[in-house]
Amino acid sequence: MTVTTEIIAIGNELLIGDVQDTNTHWLCQRITGLGGMVLRATLVRDDPQVIGEVLLQAVQRGTQVIFTTGGLGPTADDLTLFAMATALGRPLEEHPEALRMVQETYTRLAQAGYVSHAELTPERRKMAILPAGAQPLYNPVGAAPGVLLRQGDTTIITLPGVPAELQGIFEQSLTPILRELYGQGYYAERVLIVDCGDESALAPAVDAVQRGHPEVYVKSRAKAYGPGVRLKITLSARGDSKEEVEGRLSMALEELRGRLEALHIPIVQIS
Ligand code: ATP
Ligand code: MG
Repeated sequence: MTVTTEIIAIGNELLIGDVQDTNTHWLCQRITGLGGMVLRATLVRDDPQVIGEVLLQAVQRGTQVIFTTGGLGPTADDLTLFAMATALGRPLEEHPEALRMVQETYTRLAQAGYVSHAELTPERRKMAILPAGAQPLYNPVGAAPGVLLRQGDTTIITLPGVPAELQGIFEQSLTPILRELYGQGYYAERVLIVDCGDESALAPAVDAVQRGHPEVYVKSRAKAYGPGVRLKITLSARGDSKEEVEGRLSMALEELRGRLEALHIPIVQIS
């Protein structure tokens, strides 16, 4: 079974068009690569009411893993954890381990001369105030720890908005948790480049393969029209094991090759 996943990207800057939401794109790639299935991604403003609503809806849909990004920092508009605690009916508490992580980061930053002192001001302490029952995730890049929270069968993973911090936590602190959550999943894809610039000419082959292999996702990617234009066809599949997924992909690929040949469309490359 694939692990159902949702992403909630939080921040006014995203919805006024100031910052492009690259975190969702990055997470989608990683989660798909782990064999998970991202069913929905939502962009919301720094509004605790709305953040709480979308989070609760995702929990109530029975989503297995929910990622949030943004709003974890020391500023007053960073409201993600407040919104989460309110929506899930949990008090906010200072977490000793999180406080230790924040202290360690500021000690390091002060020693390097990046900040003027290492003291835990209320703004810095704020980053260690988590909903009750949450677990902090070490942030190897910035100050605000990520947060892991289990709510029934749902795991909520809250990450900072700064892409390097989000990626740092994902890659360094989440590895065992991701293995536990997505462990059995496997994802793979094959890419064909065909010497054909007309996607409509490919459509009968692509559609037939898709119908015959519903467990494989077959997609042609259109570029431009004109001489020398080559099209990319991607076949992707996810499943419980490498053998199962590779087997499905091979069968779909064989059929696609035959059908393209019948249409006299040359395959330039398969990878
Ligand atoms: P900080 O500790 O820096 O305050 P934070 O978790 O509070 O981190 P935000 O304040 O929400 O994060 O965002 C910090 C910056 O990260 C934004 O100004 C923006 O440049 C970038 N950012 C936020 N969300 C995204 C996103 N979804 N995709 C790409 N960049 C983002
Ligand atoms: Mg912030």
